[in-house]
Amino acid sequence: MRKIIRPQVERFQFGRFEITTFMDGAHIRNEINPPFVMDKTPEEIVRIAAANNIFDYQFENTYSPTLLNLDGKLVLIDTGFGQLLNDGTAGYLLQLLIESGYRAEDIDYVVFTHCHPDHIGGFITDGSLTFPNAKYCIGRVEFDAWLSGNLIPPNRKQNRELFIKLIKPYAEKFVFLEDGQQLISGLYAEAAYGHSLGHMMYRLVEGDKQILIWGDVANHYVFSVQHPESPVAFDDDPEQAIATRKRVLDMVTTDKLMVIGHHMPFPSIGYIERINDTFRWVPAFYQKWL
Ligand SMILES: [Zn+2]
Repeated sequence: MRKIIRPQVERFQFGRFEITTFMDGAHIRNEINPPFVMDKTPEEIVRIAAANNIFDYQFENTYSPTLLNLDGKLVLIDTGFGQLLNDGTAGYLLQLLIESGYRAEDIDYVVFTHCHPDHIGGFITDGSLTFPNAKYCIGRVEFDAWLSGNLIPPNRKQNRELFIKLIKPYAEKFVFLEDGQQLISGLYAEAAYGHSLGHMMYRLVEGDKQILIWGDVANHYVFSVQHPESPVAFDDDPEQAIATRKRVLDMVTTDKLMVIGHHMPFPSIGYIERINDTFRWVPAFYQKWL
């Protein structure tokens, strides 16, 4: 059988900066509700799927860490699954990073949106830091929430154990970010709580251009973007996640921001368009090459 060929790396110029997205992996999940549109009837889901030419019984979840090259400083946002899964479905970030001309030792900053496994798994490889020379950054609220464990929902028990095993031993290596804090020239952390208790997104500003790396604010390009009001099983505080999703979708539409979303269809780069009283994900195609 012929091997399927699909892009796993996308690199483009963003003003004087360079942005690369990597496809760490993908999973096919054979159900829409849950995780998505949990307030909709099966009939409504069929209708939404048909209107968007997608299946109503299956979706592909892709994972896209992002690398920023900011005047020679390399900033990696999220680390993919790393070695957490040993089934060949995900954990390709490191290999793809090397294939695209970087070395793990060259990464200057590793910045996390939040501590779910598909974002922190690649923090450690073979028992050591994957990116040994990096400075590590994470939202203070996010770190504290996982550390204390008090408000972590029961379905994230294993995830908390992963945090304690992987991240906690390296706590002294971290810089803790507040809402609005500048990490490095042009890159800002912004609070986007809800998907996890202290989830952060990152805004890159280059001259008059801005791009928002929104992490997991919306995790399906149709169901969560067109129906931000619907609860999502992946969200640790569903109500807060809904409020954040609506706010961010409104903001990127009004400000016409380019967006990178960890779970948007690879290469995970696009815009949000407002249609009537809802939103549409619009992949960025040739705009990136101009
Ligand atoms: Zn995720």
